[in-house]
Amino acid sequence: MDLALSEEQEAVRRLAEDFVAREVTPHATAWDRAEEVDRGIVKKLGAVGFLGLTIPEEYGGSGGDHLAYCLVTEELGRGDSSVRGIVSVSLGLVAKTIASWGREEQKREWLPRLASGEALGCFGLTEPGTGSDAGNLATRAVRDGGTGDYVINGTKMFITNGTWADVVLLFARTGDAPGHKGVSAFLVPTDTPGLARRPVHGKLGLRGQATAELVLEDVRVPAGAMLGPEGKGFTVAMSALAKGRMSVAAGCVGIAQAALDAAVRYAGEREQFGKPIASYQLVQELISDIAVDVDAARLLTWRVADLIDRGLDFATAASKAKLYASEAAVRAANNALQVFGGYGYIDEYPVGKLVRDARVMTLYEGTSQIQKLIIGRALTGVSAF
Ligand code: FAD
Repeated sequence: MDLALSEEQEAVRRLAEDFVAREVTPHATAWDRAEEVDRGIVKKLGAVGFLGLTIPEEYGGSGGDHLAYCLVTEELGRGDSSVRGIVSVSLGLVAKTIASWGREEQKREWLPRLASGEALGCFGLTEPGTGSDAGNLATRAVRDGGTGDYVINGTKMFITNGTWADVVLLFARTGDAPGHKGVSAFLVPTDTPGLARRPVHGKLGLRGQATAELVLEDVRVPAGAMLGPEGKGFTVAMSALAKGRMSVAAGCVGIAQAALDAAVRYAGEREQFGKPIASYQLVQELISDIAVDVDAARLLTWRVADLIDRGLDFATAASKAKLYASEAAVRAANNALQVFGGYGYIDEYPVGKLVRDARVMTLYEGTSQIQKLIIGRALTGVSAF
């Protein structure tokens, strides 16, 4: 594997770095305090091409490879994980899944708008009663024998982009088959009558992100809204999440890199006992631990991108990258906070936010425990779920 970036990949990385320095980093603390990212960022992310990066050009995207996607995601995560999540969900979980599973008219209807930022997507899998055990979801879509429409009832929890999104990729039970076998996927416009959205406030981190509870009461969609075959919704969801895990991992690399940058800078400036704290071996240990975590997480993440771009099986590698990078981001942010001492604990300095934003990465798109079960199943052939 050649770890050197191509000219195009380096250009995309630099574009993302400049975009983040201009449009994200200067506002990240204010957005975090206000519990809301400026919504205008969606159009800007679309205009610069990040919301359609891996979507084919014929559907309005840039047709970029997955390593380029990792580079952009890392830079966004380095600036503000709340902004990174907007892209990871709308492009990574929704648009990419429509590109993989959609019929031609579904691709034409949604992909150009999602790629440009004219429309935003959200991913509705988790419910109040089912998180890790997502295949047992209770939301139900019943076929109306007269019109052929589906009528959907249920509640979705913790939906990223939920209050902002124009379309939800929604998973609902369509048949009597037990567990995940009875689940189908639907594309539901969020202005469909009967769909209510309630913001989730008081999050520990990702405070700027528009997280919502979605309540569906007799939401009626045409049969053509189904994405993929009936009863294959869980397969659709798992294929989306496998690639999504690479995106989360890349965002974690960004957090860890931001932690490293901040720790090195501060250790050089802050003096105690008459010398910069960078000159103390125990401070260098904190910094070197962060640096090793950054490199290891990045290499595991790039490996997933390489496997996807070469058309090889990547699911277990994605779970390994997500598991390692999310735990590494928490460690790295925490080590950086230690370097900052008491100043790390107040939000005028960047590292407290990194700790709070990193923490959720070990929870969503499969907790660390669930990633271990996926890796264990692949190695032993035995499911411990
Ligand atoms: P539970 O599944 O109840 O888990 C609780 C604990 O039990 C965890 O430690 C877990 O690891 C452990 N556990 C569960 N089962 C097992 C097992 N078999 N073996 C060992 N340990 C086990 N969901 C979406 O659908 N779309 C989104 O956009 C989205 N965005 C989110 C944004 C945020 C900020 C948050 C917090 C969550 C988001 N989620 C989203 C939901 C997220 O994916 C779930 O929270 C996650 O899957 C865990 O589910 P749970 O919270 O119900 O925890």
